[in-house]
Amino acid sequence: IIMVFLTLMIIFINNEWHTSSSGKTFPTFNPATGVKICDVEEEDVDRAVGAAKAAGQRGSPWRRMDTSSRGMLLHKLADLMERDRLLLATLETLDTGKPFLQSFFIDLDGSIKTLRYYAGWADKIHGKSLPVDESFMCLTKHEPVGVCGAIIPWNFPLLMFMWKMAPALSCGNTVVIKPAEQTPLTALHIGSLIKEAGFPPGVVNIVPGFGPTAGAAIASHMDINKVAFTGSTEVGQLIKEASAKSNLKRVTLELGGKNPCIVFADLQLAVEETQKGALYNQGQCCTAASRVFVEESIYEEFVRRSIENVKKIVIGDPLDPQTSHGPQIDRQHFDKIMDLIKSGKEEGARLEYGGAALGEKGLFIKPTIFSGVKDHMRIAKEEIFGPVQCIFSFKSPQEAIERANSSQYGLVSAVFTTSMDRALSVSAALETGTVWINCYNALHAQTPFGGYKMSGNGRELGEYALAEYSEVKAVTIKLSETL
Ligand code: ADP
Repeated sequence: IIMVFLTLMIIFINNEWHTSSSGKTFPTFNPATGVKICDVEEEDVDRAVGAAKAAGQRGSPWRRMDTSSRGMLLHKLADLMERDRLLLATLETLDTGKPFLQSFFIDLDGSIKTLRYYAGWADKIHGKSLPVDESFMCLTKHEPVGVCGAIIPWNFPLLMFMWKMAPALSCGNTVVIKPAEQTPLTALHIGSLIKEAGFPPGVVNIVPGFGPTAGAAIASHMDINKVAFTGSTEVGQLIKEASAKSNLKRVTLELGGKNPCIVFADLQLAVEETQKGALYNQGQCCTAASRVFVEESIYEEFVRRSIENVKKIVIGDPLDPQTSHGPQIDRQHFDKIMDLIKSGKEEGARLEYGGAALGEKGLFIKPTIFSGVKDHMRIAKEEIFGPVQCIFSFKSPQEAIERANSSQYGLVSAVFTTSMDRALSVSAALETGTVWINCYNALHAQTPFGGYKMSGNGRELGEYALAEYSEVKAVTIKLSETL
């Protein structure tokens, strides 16, 4: 059924499907088989921005809508995603190669919960009254920023779409969303659900396309008031530059990471969680546990158990419910990972497991473990974004913290210990936007997420994200009498 329905996916603007004005299309492939799934119409950022701007104007149905009704629309969309959960999870797996059960339980669950969380906020976003000097009173009001652009990566296409769209709509904005060129399918199905849920035309617009064209057009558009981006640090820098050179639109960036885990104790838990952290989604996560520092006294045992544990992973057809490890997203990315694995071997890290592609053809890479990794090696410094676990040893907590922090990145980190004191003192010293204690990848719609240093600017999720999607207006009133 899916193959019949997916002959040509088109652009979603103003609650209608359009073909591209340039007449251009591009193919999207199943990374597990290399087979083309369908063609997709390419971009039309200007038309989409025009529709989003009109939909968000003063007096428009969207701006006049009760805030509680806005929340109900987000709930309605979540209901429709629950109804279509099987279809959405299947599309996500076909387009990304991620194992079906992960799409169904993790991506869909997170996406639906994010929508419901921000549905709840829609009628609770309010300002303050301030006791200002002399005979004045000041009220602050939180207003929409306007047209919000969103540029989405290919590793969690649906989830990242929701992380950006849900808070933007909850605050009353309109959006123009560009999915990654590798993975446009679930976003386009969401377009049809937006219409079915009853959002006014133009509130959500979806423009598939490439980064240097459609993405760059969003970053530099004069009528876009805010852009939210998830992707590489290099492209994040381009987006901030384009924003500065155009209209100084607000920018939030969620970029790369080289995320440290520091393991003192609770060995088995640490083995399982750090490995899942390193290999989840074929290692294609900005949160990947890519530097695991283990205290010297338990180091050998940790490596031994990690090798035992990795053997439980089942590589195979992503649609098979038994599979826990699928292919990498595309050939270019596969080659980059293989090159980094080669550099690890050449620079003297000890290859404990994997380290090769699975078979001659296809984009599968065996889960890989390196021990004896040293800080100067490329695999210790560069974001691999592939299924590679790097294990380091350390002697003292001070040394571990210093090495953990000696990175341009500062996205997430983790500490494994049975001492509450140690957990709190180490978490206070780590320079990352998230610290997980005795867990990994524990992400929740209620909890802010974002990076220190070159891992990004601003925060997504939680109450904190509302500030990124609101303008604050101060209304000051002169009081002429005192009674
Ligand atoms: P990755 O390296 O993980 O593919 P990218 O940062 O290249 O990450 O891509 C993430 C998103 O950014 C994608 O939607 C991509 O199309 C978009 N993108 C890539 N280059 C640019 C650019 N120059 N301007 C705006 N968006 C871009």
